[in-house]
Amino acid sequence: VELERAIELAMGRVAERRDALVDLASQLITFDTTARDVGDPPREEAALQSLLARRLGAAGAEVELWEPDPATLAGSRQIPTGWDFAGRPQLIGRFGRRGGGRSLIFNGHIDAVSAEPLDAWRHPPFDPCVIDGRLYGRGACDMKGGVAAMVIAAEVVAELDATGGDLIVNTVTDEESCGAGGAAVVAHGLRADAAIVPEDTDFDVWAGCRGVLSPTVTVLGRAGHAEIRQRPWQEGGAVNAIERSLVVLEAARGLRERWMRDPAHQHPYLSAPDLVPTLIRGGEWWVTYPERCSITFDVTYLPVQADTDGWGTRVEQEIEAALAEAAAADDWLAGHPLQFAWSGDLPPAEIPTDHPLVRTLQAAAARVGRKSRVSGLDSWHDAATFARFGGTPAVSFGPPGTDVDGNFLAHTIDEYVPVDGLVSCAQALAAAALAWTWPDQET
Ligand SMILES: [Zn+2]
Repeated sequence: VELERAIELAMGRVAERRDALVDLASQLITFDTTARDVGDPPREEAALQSLLARRLGAAGAEVELWEPDPATLAGSRQIPTGWDFAGRPQLIGRFGRRGGGRSLIFNGHIDAVSAEPLDAWRHPPFDPCVIDGRLYGRGACDMKGGVAAMVIAAEVVAELDATGGDLIVNTVTDEESCGAGGAAVVAHGLRADAAIVPEDTDFDVWAGCRGVLSPTVTVLGRAGHAEIRQRPWQEGGAVNAIERSLVVLEAARGLRERWMRDPAHQHPYLSAPDLVPTLIRGGEWWVTYPERCSITFDVTYLPVQADTDGWGTRVEQEIEAALAEAAAADDWLAGHPLQFAWSGDLPPAEIPTDHPLVRTLQAAAARVGRKSRVSGLDSWHDAATFARFGGTPAVSFGPPGTDVDGNFLAHTIDEYVPVDGLVSCAQALAAAALAWTWPDQET
């Protein structure tokens, strides 16, 4: 068959499987695969991955399902120490090929963010339902809907048995926390000529993302009775760590404003770097001058700020220098240096906006009548891991993920995905897979 004919056939078959697509997405939502911290027990990741493994195997894929050895990620700036994959296997399903075409990975994460507080949901988060053309549930748009769409698309493409290059379906755990699952499959050797991650981009192509750091800065004070008049600290009096932490907050705001104004931080589709205080913990007792106050920041940085290996070490140095300089100007803090703790580094990544993968996806979006811009994700996604560490050009491209006012539905209460958008997404993914892997295509 000709490519055009194959694409038409595939899109038709996806449309016929609308109910099967909703069923699969619903099934995935019923598994509790909410994100976790180091040391948390496994949830229902293995059961979900087994279901997909059986399904891909039945469709003719050669299936690999395994728990990675955490040692393969040892020393990574990205993965917290003590991370493991016990009860959280990764899955790769490879569909055969005739040769002569480019290979393609569909990658999706099976974890979803916490559904707490459960009683805030009108539609229970793990008991999916379709109402007015919307599929509700935790992970509906981020990204169990996208995972279901890529599986259906791959099944339909495999049935046509006409592709030239490998089509690989890969589902991973632990994207929401630190990207450990994606890092493990890339460390395992998963590579291709391109990768598509059906995150909820509303048919835009996310060609890049910012990197993320999360420093915790601790300000030291000196404890003392809060209801007793204190002598000056130079004479042994108490020092309030909460009040002194204003120095850190002000300095962080100053750095943030300099970052925003810096012309080097203009990016065609990513926002300027940012530094947001998100957690604060100070004090020990309500009648005691606080001895300690810790502030955690969410830091997002641009590809241009990364060091020569692509990590955020220069950003770390810049933050430490700016805050330390402000502290040096404070009489108490000058002699009681700030303490910095750095955990995790999700590196930024981008691929050229005129990359053939971008064009292939925009053409696929046009086939299903959807607008598709080249844009990016101000947060982070697994596509960065494939691009940065596997040399696999990777983007996100998937179903609608915003409400009528343009607010993101991911991570919200009563998360949903429009069923029409999910079907269009599966059709576009099938079209893109055929176009990309077809034998002897121009690059
Ligand atoms: Zn996601």
